[in-house]
Amino acid sequence: MARVLFINAGSEGHINPTIGVVQELISRGEEVVYFTIEAFRERLEKTGATVRTLDGQRFIKAFISGGRNYLLERINGLLHTAEIVIPSLLEQIEGEHFDYIIHDSMFGCGRLIAQILKLPAINSCTSFAQTKESFDKMLEQLSKNIPKEVLKNINDEYRRLTAMVKEKYTVEIQSPYEIFCNPAPVTIVYTTREFQPYGEAFDQTYKFVGPSISSRLKQESFDFTAIKGKRPIYISLGTVFNRAVDFYKLCFEAFADSNHTVVMSIGEQTPQFDLGEIPQNFIVKNYVPQTEVLKYTKLFITHGGMNSTNEGLYYGVPLIVIPQSADQPIIARQVANIGAGVTLQMQRLTANQLREAAGNVLNNPSFHKAVLQIRESIQKSGGYYKAVDEIFEFKSHNDI
Ligand code: UDP
Repeated sequence: MARVLFINAGSEGHINPTIGVVQELISRGEEVVYFTIEAFRERLEKTGATVRTLDGQRFIKAFISGGRNYLLERINGLLHTAEIVIPSLLEQIEGEHFDYIIHDSMFGCGRLIAQILKLPAINSCTSFAQTKESFDKMLEQLSKNIPKEVLKNINDEYRRLTAMVKEKYTVEIQSPYEIFCNPAPVTIVYTTREFQPYGEAFDQTYKFVGPSISSRLKQESFDFTAIKGKRPIYISLGTVFNRAVDFYKLCFEAFADSNHTVVMSIGEQTPQFDLGEIPQNFIVKNYVPQTEVLKYTKLFITHGGMNSTNEGLYYGVPLIVIPQSADQPIIARQVANIGAGVTLQMQRLTANQLREAAGNVLNNPSFHKAVLQIRESIQKSGGYYKAVDEIFEFKSHNDI
Protein backbone atom coordinates (compact mmCIF):
# COMPACT_ATOMS: atom_id res chain seq x y z
CA MET A 1 0.00 0.00 0.00
CA ALA A 2 1.29 3.45 -0.90
CA ARG A 3 0.23 6.87 0.40
CA VAL A 4 -0.97 9.18 -2.32
CA LEU A 5 -1.21 12.93 -2.09
CA PHE A 6 -3.94 14.22 -4.42
CA ILE A 7 -4.09 17.97 -5.15
CA ASN A 8 -7.07 19.41 -6.96
CA ALA A 9 -8.78 22.68 -6.10
CA GLY A 10 -11.68 22.14 -8.54
CA SER A 11 -13.95 23.24 -10.27
CA GLU A 12 -16.48 20.42 -10.56
CA GLY A 13 -15.27 19.49 -14.05
CA HIS A 14 -11.77 18.95 -12.66
CA ILE A 15 -13.04 16.89 -9.73
CA ASN A 16 -15.60 14.53 -11.29
CA PRO A 17 -13.24 12.40 -13.40
CA THR A 18 -10.99 11.86 -10.38
CA ILE A 19 -13.73 10.32 -8.27
CA GLY A 20 -13.60 6.95 -10.02
CA VAL A 21 -9.80 7.09 -9.99
CA VAL A 22 -9.68 7.62 -6.23
CA GLN A 23 -12.26 4.91 -5.55
CA GLU A 24 -10.30 2.49 -7.68
CA LEU A 25 -6.97 3.42 -6.07
CA ILE A 26 -8.46 2.78 -2.66
CA SER A 27 -10.00 -0.52 -3.75
CA ARG A 28 -6.53 -1.61 -4.87
CA GLY A 29 -5.13 -0.82 -1.43
CA GLU A 30 -3.80 2.76 -1.73
CA GLU A 31 -4.33 5.38 0.93
CA VAL A 32 -5.39 8.70 -0.60
CA VAL A 33 -5.17 12.11 1.07
CA TYR A 34 -7.09 14.50 -1.17
CA PHE A 35 -6.63 18.29 -0.94
CA THR A 36 -9.54 20.23 -2.39
CA ILE A 37 -12.02 22.94 -1.41
CA GLU A 38 -14.88 22.45 1.04
CA ALA A 39 -17.53 22.25 -1.71
CA PHE A 40 -16.19 18.87 -2.84
CA ARG A 41 -15.53 17.36 0.58
CA GLU A 42 -18.67 15.24 0.73
CA ARG A 43 -18.38 13.57 -2.63
CA LEU A 44 -14.68 12.86 -2.14
CA GLU A 45 -15.05 11.55 1.40
CA LYS A 46 -17.52 9.00 0.05
CA THR A 47 -14.70 7.51 -2.05
CA GLY A 48 -12.87 6.58 1.15
CA ALA A 49 -10.20 9.27 0.73
CA THR A 50 -9.08 11.44 3.62
CA VAL A 51 -10.14 14.92 2.57
CA ARG A 52 -8.36 18.07 3.64
CA THR A 53 -9.36 21.49 2.45
CA LEU A 54 -7.88 24.66 1.10
CA ASP A 55 -9.62 28.00 1.53
CA GLY A 56 -11.84 28.10 -1.57
CA GLN A 57 -12.81 31.76 -1.25
CA ARG A 58 -9.23 32.93 -0.93
CA PHE A 59 -8.19 30.59 -3.72
CA ILE A 60 -10.71 32.03 -6.20
CA LYS A 61 -9.89 35.58 -5.10
CA ALA A 62 -6.18 34.98 -5.67
CA PHE A 63 -6.83 33.40 -9.08
CA ILE A 64 -9.06 36.25 -10.21
CA SER A 65 -6.62 38.86 -8.90
CA GLY A 66 -4.30 37.98 -11.78
CA GLY A 67 -6.87 39.40 -14.21
CA ARG A 68 -9.31 37.63 -16.47
CA ASN A 69 -8.96 39.18 -19.88
CA TYR A 70 -5.95 37.31 -21.20
CA LEU A 71 -4.43 33.88 -20.81
CA LEU A 72 -1.23 35.47 -19.51
CA GLU A 73 -3.26 37.07 -16.73
CA ARG A 74 -4.74 33.72 -15.79
CA ILE A 75 -1.24 32.35 -15.52
CA ASN A 76 -0.43 35.17 -13.13
CA GLY A 77 -3.64 34.31 -11.27
CA LEU A 78 -2.46 30.72 -10.89
CA LEU A 79 0.86 32.01 -9.55
CA HIS A 80 -1.06 34.06 -7.00
CA THR A 81 -2.80 30.91 -5.79
CA ALA A 82 0.58 29.50 -4.71
CA GLU A 83 0.36 31.74 -1.66
CA ILE A 84 -2.98 30.21 -0.71
CA VAL A 85 -2.26 26.58 -1.48
CA ILE A 86 1.36 25.92 -0.58
CA PRO A 87 1.67 27.24 3.02
CA SER A 88 -1.67 25.70 3.98
CA LEU A 89 -0.80 22.33 2.49
CA LEU A 90 2.68 22.22 4.00
CA GLU A 91 1.25 23.01 7.40
CA GLN A 92 -1.43 20.32 7.12
CA ILE A 93 0.94 17.54 6.06
CA GLU A 94 3.83 18.40 8.34
CA GLY A 95 5.69 15.27 9.42
CA GLU A 96 3.71 12.97 7.08
CA HIS A 97 5.14 10.70 4.42
CA PHE A 98 3.75 10.35 0.89
CA ASP A 99 4.96 8.00 -1.85
CA TYR A 100 3.72 9.92 -4.86
CA ILE A 101 1.52 12.82 -5.87
CA ILE A 102 -1.34 13.13 -8.35
CA HIS A 103 -2.22 16.71 -9.19
CA ASP A 104 -4.71 18.50 -11.38
CA SER A 105 -3.28 19.90 -14.59
CA MET A 106 -4.45 23.40 -13.77
CA PHE A 107 -5.63 24.16 -10.23
CA GLY A 108 -3.62 23.60 -7.08
CA CYS A 109 0.03 24.35 -7.94
CA GLY A 110 0.67 20.61 -8.31
CA ARG A 111 3.96 20.85 -10.15
CA LEU A 112 5.37 23.24 -7.56
CA ILE A 113 4.26 21.02 -4.70
CA ALA A 114 5.75 17.93 -6.35
CA GLN A 115 9.06 19.80 -6.53
CA ILE A 116 8.91 21.04 -2.96
CA LEU A 117 8.10 17.57 -1.60
CA LYS A 118 10.40 15.83 -4.12
CA LEU A 119 7.64 13.37 -5.00
CA PRO A 120 7.15 11.35 -8.19
CA ALA A 121 4.25 13.08 -9.92
CA ILE A 122 1.29 12.25 -12.12
CA ASN A 123 -0.72 14.94 -13.87
CA SER A 124 -4.53 14.59 -13.98
CA CYS A 125 -5.74 16.40 -17.12
CA THR A 126 -9.48 16.91 -17.40
CA SER A 127 -9.37 18.89 -20.62
CA PHE A 128 -7.53 18.30 -23.87
CA ALA A 129 -3.82 17.89 -23.26
CA GLN A 130 -1.36 20.42 -24.63
CA THR A 131 2.23 19.98 -25.69
CA LYS A 132 4.64 22.76 -24.76
CA GLU A 133 5.03 23.61 -28.44
CA SER A 134 1.31 24.05 -29.07
CA PHE A 135 0.83 25.95 -25.80
CA ASP A 136 3.70 28.34 -26.57
CA LYS A 137 2.37 28.90 -30.05
CA MET A 138 -1.11 29.64 -28.69
CA LEU A 139 0.28 32.00 -26.07
CA GLU A 140 2.32 33.86 -28.67
CA GLN A 141 -0.72 34.13 -30.91
CA LEU A 142 -2.97 35.39 -28.12
CA SER A 143 -0.34 37.84 -26.88
CA LYS A 144 -0.49 39.62 -30.22
CA ASN A 145 -3.96 40.87 -29.31
CA ILE A 146 -2.81 42.52 -26.09
CA PRO A 147 -2.01 46.25 -26.20
CA LYS A 148 1.76 46.77 -25.79
CA GLU A 149 1.66 48.62 -22.49
CA VAL A 150 -0.75 46.10 -20.95
CA LEU A 151 1.43 43.22 -22.15
CA LYS A 152 4.49 44.78 -20.57
CA ASN A 153 2.71 45.10 -17.23
CA ILE A 154 1.48 41.50 -17.35
CA ASN A 155 4.95 40.23 -18.21
CA ASP A 156 6.53 42.30 -15.43
CA GLU A 157 4.02 40.83 -13.01
CA TYR A 158 4.80 37.31 -14.25
CA ARG A 159 8.51 37.88 -13.66
CA ARG A 160 7.87 39.32 -10.21
CA LEU A 161 5.61 36.44 -9.17
CA THR A 162 7.84 33.68 -10.52
CA ALA A 163 10.91 35.21 -8.84
CA MET A 164 9.01 35.37 -5.56
CA VAL A 165 7.72 31.78 -5.73
CA LYS A 166 11.09 30.44 -6.85
CA GLU A 167 12.91 32.12 -4.01
CA LYS A 168 10.40 31.31 -1.34
CA TYR A 169 10.04 27.61 -2.12
CA THR A 170 13.32 26.85 -3.91
CA VAL A 171 11.56 25.57 -7.03
CA GLU A 172 12.18 25.88 -10.75
CA ILE A 173 9.70 27.57 -13.10
CA GLN A 174 10.98 27.42 -16.65
CA SER A 175 7.94 28.69 -18.53
CA PRO A 176 4.28 29.78 -18.29
CA TYR A 177 3.46 26.30 -19.65
CA GLU A 178 4.63 24.78 -16.37
CA ILE A 179 2.26 27.00 -14.42
CA PHE A 180 -0.75 26.54 -16.67
CA CYS A 181 -0.42 22.85 -17.59
CA ASN A 182 1.60 21.40 -14.71
CA PRO A 183 3.49 18.84 -16.81
CA ALA A 184 4.66 15.68 -15.04
CA PRO A 185 6.43 12.44 -15.99
CA VAL A 186 3.00 10.89 -16.64
CA THR A 187 -0.21 12.66 -17.67
CA ILE A 188 -3.58 10.95 -17.42
CA VAL A 189 -5.93 12.47 -20.01
CA TYR A 190 -9.63 11.68 -19.67
CA THR A 191 -10.37 11.45 -23.34
CA THR A 192 -9.30 9.23 -26.21
CA ARG A 193 -6.33 9.85 -28.47
CA GLU A 194 -8.80 9.93 -31.41
CA PHE A 195 -10.82 12.76 -29.88
CA GLN A 196 -7.75 14.71 -28.71
CA PRO A 197 -6.77 17.27 -31.40
CA TYR A 198 -3.43 16.24 -32.94
CA GLY A 199 -3.52 13.12 -30.77
CA GLU A 200 -0.51 11.69 -32.59
CA ALA A 201 1.65 14.59 -31.32
CA PHE A 202 1.67 13.21 -27.78
CA ASP A 203 4.32 10.78 -26.62
CA GLN A 204 3.78 7.70 -24.50
CA THR A 205 3.91 9.65 -21.25
CA TYR A 206 0.38 10.82 -22.11
CA LYS A 207 -2.13 8.15 -21.14
CA PHE A 208 -5.43 8.67 -22.94
CA VAL A 209 -7.74 6.65 -20.73
CA GLY A 210 -11.06 8.01 -21.97
CA PRO A 211 -13.85 9.50 -19.87
CA SER A 212 -13.73 8.53 -16.23
CA ILE A 213 -17.40 8.11 -15.45
CA SER A 214 -18.37 6.64 -12.12
CA SER A 215 -21.20 6.82 -9.70
CA ARG A 216 -20.87 10.23 -8.09
CA LEU A 217 -22.15 9.00 -4.74
CA LYS A 218 -24.08 12.24 -4.43
CA GLN A 219 -27.81 12.02 -4.07
CA GLU A 220 -29.51 14.62 -6.20
CA SER A 221 -33.27 14.45 -6.15
CA PHE A 222 -34.60 13.82 -9.62
CA ASP A 223 -37.82 12.10 -10.54
CA PHE A 224 -36.88 9.74 -13.37
CA THR A 225 -40.46 8.57 -13.84
CA ALA A 226 -41.09 11.97 -15.46
CA ILE A 227 -38.70 11.18 -18.34
CA LYS A 228 -38.84 7.40 -18.62
CA GLY A 229 -39.90 6.40 -22.14
CA LYS A 230 -39.85 10.05 -23.24
CA ARG A 231 -36.30 10.41 -24.65
CA PRO A 232 -35.86 14.05 -23.58
CA ILE A 233 -33.66 16.78 -24.95
CA TYR A 234 -31.21 17.71 -22.21
CA ILE A 235 -29.82 21.26 -21.91
CA SER A 236 -26.98 22.39 -19.64
CA LEU A 237 -24.24 25.00 -19.69
CA GLY A 238 -22.25 23.21 -16.99
CA THR A 239 -21.33 24.49 -13.58
CA VAL A 240 -19.22 27.58 -14.24
CA PHE A 241 -20.28 29.74 -17.19
CA ASN A 242 -23.97 29.11 -16.69
CA ARG A 243 -25.50 32.47 -15.71
CA ALA A 244 -27.57 32.80 -18.86
CA VAL A 245 -31.20 33.75 -18.20
CA ASP A 246 -31.74 34.97 -21.76
CA PHE A 247 -30.48 31.70 -23.18
CA TYR A 248 -32.73 29.63 -20.92
CA LYS A 249 -35.72 31.73 -21.99
CA LEU A 250 -34.68 31.27 -25.62
CA CYS A 251 -34.78 27.51 -25.05
CA PHE A 252 -38.36 27.87 -23.78
CA GLU A 253 -39.22 29.76 -26.97
CA ALA A 254 -37.52 27.15 -29.16
CA PHE A 255 -39.17 24.05 -27.68
CA ALA A 256 -42.24 25.12 -25.66
CA ASP A 257 -44.69 24.28 -28.42
CA SER A 258 -43.00 21.07 -29.47
CA ASN A 259 -43.54 17.41 -28.70
CA HIS A 260 -40.16 17.20 -27.01
CA THR A 261 -39.75 16.72 -23.29
CA VAL A 262 -36.89 18.97 -22.20
CA VAL A 263 -34.74 18.67 -19.09
CA MET A 264 -32.83 21.86 -18.40
CA SER A 265 -30.15 22.27 -15.73
CA ILE A 266 -29.66 26.00 -15.13
CA GLY A 267 -26.89 25.86 -12.52
CA GLU A 268 -26.79 27.03 -8.94
CA GLN A 269 -26.29 30.71 -9.86
CA THR A 270 -29.68 31.31 -11.47
CA PRO A 271 -32.84 31.17 -9.33
CA GLN A 272 -35.65 29.40 -11.21
CA PHE A 273 -37.83 32.34 -10.31
CA ASP A 274 -35.82 34.50 -12.77
CA LEU A 275 -37.05 32.45 -15.71
CA GLY A 276 -40.70 33.35 -15.33
CA GLU A 277 -43.31 30.80 -16.35
CA ILE A 278 -41.89 27.37 -17.13
CA PRO A 279 -43.51 25.60 -20.12
CA GLN A 280 -45.36 22.35 -19.39
CA ASN A 281 -42.94 20.17 -21.34
CA PHE A 282 -39.86 21.48 -19.46
CA ILE A 283 -38.31 20.09 -16.30
CA VAL A 284 -36.02 22.82 -14.94
CA LYS A 285 -33.55 22.14 -12.13
CA ASN A 286 -30.51 23.91 -10.70
CA TYR A 287 -28.57 20.66 -10.85
CA VAL A 288 -29.40 17.18 -12.15
CA PRO A 289 -27.61 13.83 -11.96
CA GLN A 290 -26.30 14.42 -15.47
CA THR A 291 -24.68 11.07 -16.17
CA GLU A 292 -27.98 9.38 -15.25
CA VAL A 293 -30.12 11.80 -17.27
CA LEU A 294 -27.90 11.28 -20.32
CA LYS A 295 -28.82 7.58 -20.36
CA TYR A 296 -32.33 8.61 -21.47
CA THR A 297 -31.39 11.60 -23.61
CA LYS A 298 -31.81 11.83 -27.41
CA LEU A 299 -30.07 15.21 -27.88
CA PHE A 300 -27.73 17.12 -25.57
CA ILE A 301 -27.49 20.90 -25.92
CA THR A 302 -24.28 21.65 -24.08
CA HIS A 303 -21.68 24.37 -23.55
CA GLY A 304 -19.03 21.84 -24.60
CA GLY A 305 -17.28 21.40 -21.27
CA MET A 306 -14.86 18.51 -21.54
CA ASN A 307 -16.77 16.36 -19.08
CA SER A 308 -20.20 17.07 -20.46
CA THR A 309 -19.01 16.37 -23.98
CA ASN A 310 -17.32 13.14 -22.95
CA GLU A 311 -20.34 12.06 -20.96
CA GLY A 312 -22.69 12.76 -23.86
CA LEU A 313 -20.53 10.81 -26.28
CA TYR A 314 -20.05 7.99 -23.76
CA TYR A 315 -23.81 7.47 -23.77
CA GLY A 316 -24.09 7.89 -27.54
CA VAL A 317 -26.00 11.17 -27.47
CA PRO A 318 -25.54 13.62 -30.39
CA LEU A 319 -24.65 17.15 -29.39
CA ILE A 320 -25.41 20.76 -30.13
CA VAL A 321 -22.45 22.63 -28.68
CA ILE A 322 -22.79 26.29 -27.74
CA PRO A 323 -19.37 27.17 -26.33
CA GLN A 324 -19.17 29.80 -23.60
CA SER A 325 -15.51 30.16 -22.71
CA ALA A 326 -12.20 28.45 -21.86
CA ASP A 327 -11.45 25.33 -23.94
CA GLN A 328 -15.06 24.98 -25.10
CA PRO A 329 -14.64 26.47 -28.62
CA ILE A 330 -11.89 23.90 -29.30
CA ILE A 331 -14.03 21.07 -27.98
CA ALA A 332 -16.98 22.32 -30.04
CA ARG A 333 -14.85 22.27 -33.18
CA GLN A 334 -13.70 18.76 -32.41
CA VAL A 335 -17.30 17.56 -31.97
CA ALA A 336 -18.19 19.03 -35.36
CA ASN A 337 -15.02 17.52 -36.89
CA ILE A 338 -15.96 14.01 -35.87
CA GLY A 339 -19.54 14.56 -37.04
CA ALA A 340 -21.07 13.94 -33.61
CA GLY A 341 -23.03 17.18 -33.62
CA VAL A 342 -23.11 20.81 -34.63
CA THR A 343 -21.88 24.05 -33.11
CA LEU A 344 -23.86 27.23 -32.60
CA GLN A 345 -22.67 30.61 -31.39
CA MET A 346 -24.31 32.09 -28.30
CA GLN A 347 -24.10 35.61 -29.66
CA ARG A 348 -27.16 36.48 -31.70
CA LEU A 349 -28.55 32.95 -31.35
CA THR A 350 -32.27 32.81 -32.09
CA ALA A 351 -34.92 30.35 -30.99
CA ASN A 352 -35.50 29.46 -34.64
CA GLN A 353 -31.85 28.60 -35.17
CA LEU A 354 -31.81 26.40 -32.11
CA ARG A 355 -35.04 24.61 -33.11
CA GLU A 356 -33.74 24.04 -36.62
CA ALA A 357 -30.38 22.77 -35.40
CA ALA A 358 -32.17 20.33 -33.10
CA GLY A 359 -34.32 19.09 -35.99
CA ASN A 360 -31.26 18.69 -38.16
CA VAL A 361 -29.26 16.71 -35.59
CA LEU A 362 -32.22 14.56 -34.59
CA ASN A 363 -33.31 13.70 -38.12
CA ASN A 364 -30.03 13.35 -39.95
CA PRO A 365 -28.74 9.77 -39.50
CA SER A 366 -25.12 10.80 -40.10
CA PHE A 367 -24.91 12.31 -36.61
CA HIS A 368 -26.15 9.12 -35.00
CA LYS A 369 -23.74 7.05 -37.00
CA ALA A 370 -20.76 9.20 -35.97
CA VAL A 371 -21.84 9.23 -32.34
CA LEU A 372 -22.19 5.46 -32.21
CA GLN A 373 -18.71 5.11 -33.62
CA ILE A 374 -17.11 7.40 -31.09
CA ARG A 375 -19.19 5.85 -28.31
CA GLU A 376 -17.64 2.51 -29.07
CA SER A 377 -14.06 3.80 -28.92
CA ILE A 378 -14.82 5.80 -25.78
CA GLN A 379 -16.47 2.92 -23.95
CA LYS A 380 -13.55 0.65 -24.80
CA SER A 381 -10.95 3.12 -23.56
CA GLY A 382 -11.01 1.99 -19.92
CA GLY A 383 -11.71 5.19 -17.97
CA TYR A 384 -10.73 5.25 -14.32
CA TYR A 385 -9.83 1.57 -14.31
CA LYS A 386 -7.25 2.10 -17.05
CA ALA A 387 -6.06 5.27 -15.30
CA VAL A 388 -5.24 3.26 -12.19
CA ASP A 389 -3.52 0.57 -14.27
CA GLU A 390 -1.31 3.35 -15.63
CA ILE A 391 -0.70 4.74 -12.15
CA PHE A 392 0.40 1.28 -10.96
CA GLU A 393 2.67 0.97 -13.98
CA PHE A 394 4.20 4.30 -13.00
CA LYS A 395 4.62 3.08 -9.43
CA SER A 396 6.50 0.00 -10.51
CA HIS A 397 8.83 2.09 -12.70
CA ASN A 398 9.55 4.29 -9.73
CA ASP A 399 10.00 1.39 -7.27
CA ILE A 400 7.06 2.50 -5.18
N1 UDP B 1 -23.04 18.31 -13.91
C1 UDP B 1 -24.01 17.55 -13.29
N2 UDP B 1 -25.26 18.09 -13.20
C2 UDP B 1 -25.58 19.31 -13.69
C3 UDP B 1 -24.58 20.06 -14.34
C4 UDP B 1 -23.33 19.53 -14.44
O1 UDP B 1 -23.78 16.43 -12.84
O2 UDP B 1 -26.75 19.71 -13.55
C5 UDP B 1 -21.68 17.73 -14.01
C6 UDP B 1 -21.43 17.10 -15.37
O3 UDP B 1 -21.85 15.75 -15.37
C7 UDP B 1 -19.93 17.27 -15.55
C8 UDP B 1 -19.60 18.51 -14.73
O4 UDP B 1 -20.72 18.76 -13.89
O5 UDP B 1 -19.24 16.15 -15.02
C9 UDP B 1 -19.41 19.73 -15.60
O6 UDP B 1 -18.14 19.66 -16.15
P1 UDP B 1 -17.81 20.24 -17.58
O7 UDP B 1 -16.35 19.99 -17.84
O8 UDP B 1 -18.74 19.69 -18.58
O9 UDP B 1 -18.14 21.77 -17.51
P2 UDP B 1 -17.79 22.95 -16.46
O10 UDP B 1 -18.80 22.88 -15.39
O11 UDP B 1 -16.38 22.69 -15.96
O12 UDP B 1 -17.91 24.18 -17.30
